[in-house]
Amino acid sequence: MIHHAYLTTNLAMSTRACILLLALLTPSAQAQSAADALQFVEIAPGVYLRHGAMEVANAGNRGHIANLGVIVGDERVAVIDAGGSYNEGKALLDTVARITDLPVAWLIVTHMHPDHALGAAAFAERGIPVVGHVNLADALSRRRDAYVKPVIEALGRDADGTRVVLPDVTVMPGRDVELDLGGRVLQLRAQPTAHTNNDLTVYDTKADLLWLSDLLFVERIPVVDGSLLGWLAVLEVLSQRNVSRVVPGHGPVPTDWKAAIARQQDYLEGLARGVREVIRHGGGIAQAVASVGLSARDRWELFDEYHGRNVTAAFAELEWE
Ligand SMILES: [Zn+2]
Repeated sequence: MIHHAYLTTNLAMSTRACILLLALLTPSAQAQSAADALQFVEIAPGVYLRHGAMEVANAGNRGHIANLGVIVGDERVAVIDAGGSYNEGKALLDTVARITDLPVAWLIVTHMHPDHALGAAAFAERGIPVVGHVNLADALSRRRDAYVKPVIEALGRDADGTRVVLPDVTVMPGRDVELDLGGRVLQLRAQPTAHTNNDLTVYDTKADLLWLSDLLFVERIPVVDGSLLGWLAVLEVLSQRNVSRVVPGHGPVPTDWKAAIARQQDYLEGLARGVREVIRHGGGIAQAVASVGLSARDRWELFDEYHGRNVTAAFAELEWE
């Protein structure tokens, strides 16, 4: 359904993207292409997006749950996020080779989460530098086993070769880094602690497209793993940006991106408000989990999987206010 909705909003679709889309429409072709290539759509000239499955990582979806990007300049290519396993990273590079003959110059890892970061080994073995937030190396180092083991459990043999790769190039807050792809410059910005403490945004100057990764979830419930209040502050700043479109880390590209941010703000503010209320009345975490924010249940995919965890994270953050 997402791809059909996308068809109506996409203004610039190349022949190649059409071919990829046609492959999506036939189940047998879909099964075949899932084995050797990822299904990208061209969302602007030279900009390709693979929508992740709206599920938790499992053997059926092979861990392909995060949105991934390929941006092609006149001289070189940048990839945004590596996918959740070595094999997904490898499939991603194979897909890039079908899109263009130009070399992949950088892998940009938008933050530490396994579904975005753990495919990086496929890039590292080809000598492609990994770019990330200055906090990314520390964040990944602390979580090596915690991240890799569940992937092996969920994906089995499909997780072979998966390991944590630390960034070669880092971006510091207040000091944007520009990557020149030839006729197209990407501006990388290290964000203050929000979804995680290592969120990176990528602004594509040519397409006027801002990649927010997991700073924005569309349809799928947001996951708080950095700071609830920090995230709300960052969203306030982001919503003032003057860009035509944004790409979320999960879910479709929104037709009205400010409305999508407002919808997420609404959920996060409800979380903060509800948890503060429980704390004010002397309640504990269990009470907060059992009562806060449940009215948002039918508004978000995977609510049952993540909402309780969000309330727990919010409680830990807000109880010392
Ligand atoms: Zn994430």
